[in-house]
Amino acid sequence: MATSVQLNTGARMPTVGLGTWKSPPGKVTAAVEAAISAGYRHIDGAFVYQNETEVGAGIEAMIKGGVVRREDLFVVSKLWCTFHQKSLVRGAFEKTLSDLKLTYLDLYLVHWPMGFKAGSDLFPMDSDGETIGDNTSFLETWEAMEELVDAGLAKAIGVSNFNKEQLEALLNKPGLKYKPATNQVECHPYLTQEKLLNLCHSHGISLTAYSPLGSPDRPWAKPEDPSLLEDPNIKAIAEKHKKTSAQVLIRFQIQRNVIVIPKSITPQRIQENFQVFDFELSDGEMKTILGFNRNWRACPIKSSSKHKDYPFNAEF
Ligand code: NDP
Repeated sequence: MATSVQLNTGARMPTVGLGTWKSPPGKVTAAVEAAISAGYRHIDGAFVYQNETEVGAGIEAMIKGGVVRREDLFVVSKLWCTFHQKSLVRGAFEKTLSDLKLTYLDLYLVHWPMGFKAGSDLFPMDSDGETIGDNTSFLETWEAMEELVDAGLAKAIGVSNFNKEQLEALLNKPGLKYKPATNQVECHPYLTQEKLLNLCHSHGISLTAYSPLGSPDRPWAKPEDPSLLEDPNIKAIAEKHKKTSAQVLIRFQIQRNVIVIPKSITPQRIQENFQVFDFELSDGEMKTILGFNRNWRACPIKSSSKHKDYPFNAEF
């Protein structure tokens, strides 16, 4: 099974990457180092995770230590919602680049289709607890993203959390210069995203699965929420293969040509999550797992549900 996926830019993106949301600054440098030592070549980050300096320190240590070369790594970051205005994109990108201590990114994503009010507050809220939007259209934001490619600063650009209508609006934008290379969305057996995956693949756009393990450390988790890692049906499949539930959840994505970015700060789990190229789920098992779909989201971002570009009111 391929350890990388070809993007519409021609570049290859490693299928399994390390997620870094919620990875504390004091832990993420070691996590990045453990991942690269274990064979990961893809790191997924974002400005809003507020740990890019520490992610960059891990990358730098591994390059300086001769473990890996920059050109063998695939580093991803994301433009936060408060920087959607065209004039703000370049500065936001450069802040990320300097925090990471890099000279280019392999992939830069529009983190959400929704623009938020520009300013130092990353989550501007009104008195009702609703995020304050910005009128910028993501089509304008995209033009500034394209300029990053032309400047040689981002090798590829993409989107995240875009639904069908938003993706199609982008693809139909007059004067579109570059199609998104990926759409990074929540994806796991409780949210299998079959329709969005088919749509993306039909346009030559890869899909990257975030929260592939169900994001058990998300800050708003409730005890009654479903748990993928504890699901007895997933556990049964894992036992059959002498693998863990996490490994089955990751392998499930690889076998459908989906890029997958499990997050961990635990060295043993970081290694475990990469030991997914030595077994295969049968067609029957893949079908069974697809049957677990219940359109459940770990990351519904309900505080933005009234935003004009909130992506999750549509069917997909
Ligand atoms: P994941 O589904 O990757 O789950 C992470 C949690 O699972 C952590 O608590 C981690 O614990 C635990 N874990 C990891 N490996 C194992 C294992 N083998 N066995 C048991 N538990 C395990 O959640 P995320 O929401 O973090 O998603 C992954 C990444 O996707 C993010 O980190 C981020 O990079 C990206 N993302 C992007 C979003 C977007 O809007 N574009 C939104 C959400 C995520 P521990 O760390 O303590 O080991």
